[in-house]
Amino acid sequence: MGRLQKILIPLLGLVLAFWFYSARENFKPEMLKGKRVIVTGASTGIGEQIAYHLARMGSHILITARTEAKLQKVVEQCLELGAASARYVSGTMEDMAFAQHVVREAEASLGGLDMLILNHVGASYFGFFDGDVEHVRKLLEINFLSYVAMTTSALPMLKESEGSIVVVSSMAGKVGFPFTVPYSATKFALDGFFSSLRQEFSIQSINVSITLCILGFIDTDRAVRAAAEVLRELPAPRDECALEILKGAALRRRELYYRYSSTRLPLLLRDCAAELLDYLVRSRYRLPDTPST
Ligand code: NDP
Repeated sequence: MGRLQKILIPLLGLVLAFWFYSARENFKPEMLKGKRVIVTGASTGIGEQIAYHLARMGSHILITARTEAKLQKVVEQCLELGAASARYVSGTMEDMAFAQHVVREAEASLGGLDMLILNHVGASYFGFFDGDVEHVRKLLEINFLSYVAMTTSALPMLKESEGSIVVVSSMAGKVGFPFTVPYSATKFALDGFFSSLRQEFSIQSINVSITLCILGFIDTDRAVRAAAEVLRELPAPRDECALEILKGAALRRRELYYRYSSTRLPLLLRDCAAELLDYLVRSRYRLPDTPST
């Protein structure tokens, strides 16, 4: 037993060290220099920070959202920070024709595409499911179908460049969260679509990476407004989150977890102790007296 321990413990250490270092292949900002990138939902929040990081790394950036005035400011800032080029297209992702139009704009202005970062998110409510089926349909169009439409349009260019698709999702797209039922449904749909697509890429030897980003609570204005009072945890910084997303994308990771401690670690419980995980998720909230319906 003692001898076994002497062999097993160092062996386990070696395996862990190998896993740790091989999983942390080095990211270098030059990896994104000169790359042609679309970032959706980039007028504010995490998308805006992704655009600024890309600008510092010298990428060509095409950003999109609905609010033109904000997009203009982000583009100006990107150019000041050193973007190889920066431009915007404004419009709503409720309209699939607009989603496809953004990709055509990239083709026309950048002559191709290396990375498609799908990050935008439509407004929803924070509270018990109210039975509004029309809202679920609309949110699915914005948060899911437009991602599918953009991916489909961008695929020929991404195949050509052997590029990357980055899908910004959430813990609420991996485990059931209360109070965000329509939102969670759209995020689970993303996992199903893009994880299946990744399998097909592998079968067809298509060298386009898909990075699904599983985020915890991040300090964007929208999220803080919606959840800061009811969530017991502190939000993580959006600029760091944006950088981690880009590192995961550049390293062609299949999934990216930020922050690791509040996303990947609890998810380890999913298969072996699902009810405990559900309990832990519920315990993140300061619940008022629960109204009965
Ligand atoms: P924000 O609300 O701060 O930004 C959302 C972006 O999407 C804005 O640029 C907004 O711009 C754009 N947008 C909203 N509606 C539409 C629409 N109909 N058509 C086109 N663009 C639209 O979101 P975050 O930065 O907080 O979130 C970014 C991503 O991260 C989302 O996918 C979200 O689900 C995910 N996430 C965030 C978490 C958080 O705690 N912040 C946690 C987990 C995941 P405009 O209004 O000008 O159109």
